[in-house]
Amino acid sequence: MRELTRQQIEELYADLLTLREGSRLLLENSTEGAKPVGLDQPIGRLSRMDAMQQQSMSQANLRIARQRLTQIETALRRHSEKEYGFCVDCGENIGYGRLKARPEAPFCLDCQSQRERK
Ligand SMILES: [Zn+2]
Repeated sequence: MRELTRQQIEELYADLLTLREGSRLLLENSTEGAKPVGLDQPIGRLSRMDAMQQQSMSQANLRIARQRLTQIETALRRHSEKEYGFCVDCGENIGYGRLKARPEAPFCLDCQSQRERK
């Protein structure tokens, strides 16, 4: 896998900043919906179940969004340490194509698929 050029790194860095902004907004907007459903809320039994279902959905989304934000921030930190673009596991180049699709990806494709198999 070819090493990233300076220009590619800068481009991906800009992508990361945009992604971080988007993730933060998403988290801010979804925190409201993920609040526990109060028992004293004047809603019927069915609508309470609806509310609880919606709540667990947004909590799952929230968890994914938080994980993604953490990965984005880790990638930004690795950029400032000049380690961005290298796999956290094996140290190989992750590759521009993969990073363009997922700028926060911490692993190369090999290591990622190994992890998913485990
Ligand atoms: Zn790797």
